[in-house]
Amino acid sequence: MFILIEKLFPLHRGQPIFRPDWQVDFTHFVVNHLLVGLALVIVNFAIHRLFGWLVWAPLQKWVGGLPFFAELFGALLVADLVQYWTHRAYHEIPFLWKFHAVHHSAKTMDWLAGSRQHVFEIIATRVLVLAPLFVLGFREGVINAYIIIVGFQAVLNHANVDVPWGPLKYLIVTPDFHHWHHSSDTEAIDRNYAAHYAFLDYLFGTAVKTAKRLPEKYGVVGDYMPDGWVAQQVFPFRARPLSSRPSA
Ligand SMILES: [Zn+2]
Ligand SMILES: [Zn+2]
Repeated sequence: MFILIEKLFPLHRGQPIFRPDWQVDFTHFVVNHLLVGLALVIVNFAIHRLFGWLVWAPLQKWVGGLPFFAELFGALLVADLVQYWTHRAYHEIPFLWKFHAVHHSAKTMDWLAGSRQHVFEIIATRVLVLAPLFVLGFREGVINAYIIIVGFQAVLNHANVDVPWGPLKYLIVTPDFHHWHHSSDTEAIDRNYAAHYAFLDYLFGTAVKTAKRLPEKYGVVGDYMPDGWVAQQVFPFRARPLSSRPSA
C-alpha cells in the first residue's frame, strides 16, 4: 500500500523501491513485527505492576466519558507530549543518542526506513507512551484507534511521499516534516520531534526553519553507524558517547 502511495505522490522522484540498504531495513521490519507481541506483554506487565498506584478513579471516569473523537484527539495529544519529550531526551542525552542514532542512520527515506530502530528504543517508547494512556483511563476502543493511527502515521512519516497539505502541515506531522527530522543538514539537527502534532514543535521552539523545499541529505553527521542488523544492535554498547550535533 505504501509503495503505491510513494509511486503516486513521490517526494524524491525516481527513487527506486530496492534502494541501497533495503535489506538491513527489511531485517529491522521483520524483527520489529516479531517483537510487537513480546513488547505488548512487557508493556502490560509494566503498566499493571508499576503504574497501578497512579490510578485516580474520578479522572479515569471523566476521560472515559468524553465523546469518542474528543477522547481520541486527547489520547493522541497525551501520547505525543510523552513522545516529544522522550524523543528530545534521546537526542540531547549522549547515552540515549547512541540507541536513537540507529534510527537516524538511514540514508534513504521511504516507508521501510522507519523500521530501522534499536529494540531497546522500541520497547521503552511503547511502555512510556502507553502507560499514561492506561493510567488516565482512555477507553479500549480509543486506545485501539490510537494504535492503528500510530502504526499508519509512523510508516507514512518516513515514506517518500509528498502531498499538498496546505496549512495543515503546521498542525499535524507530515512526511515532509519528519523527513526534515532525519536530515543531516545543519538547520535540521535536533529539530521536528513530534510524531502526531507538528504544532508541538512550534510551541516548544524546535521546528525546522528553512527556505529549502527538500533536505539535501539524510543520516547521522559523521556516518559512523555500521551496516547490518546485529552490528546496529551492538553499537550503543560499544560506542563512546556521541552527540547528534555536528559541532560535538
Ligand atoms: Zn530522532
Ligand atoms: Zn523517524
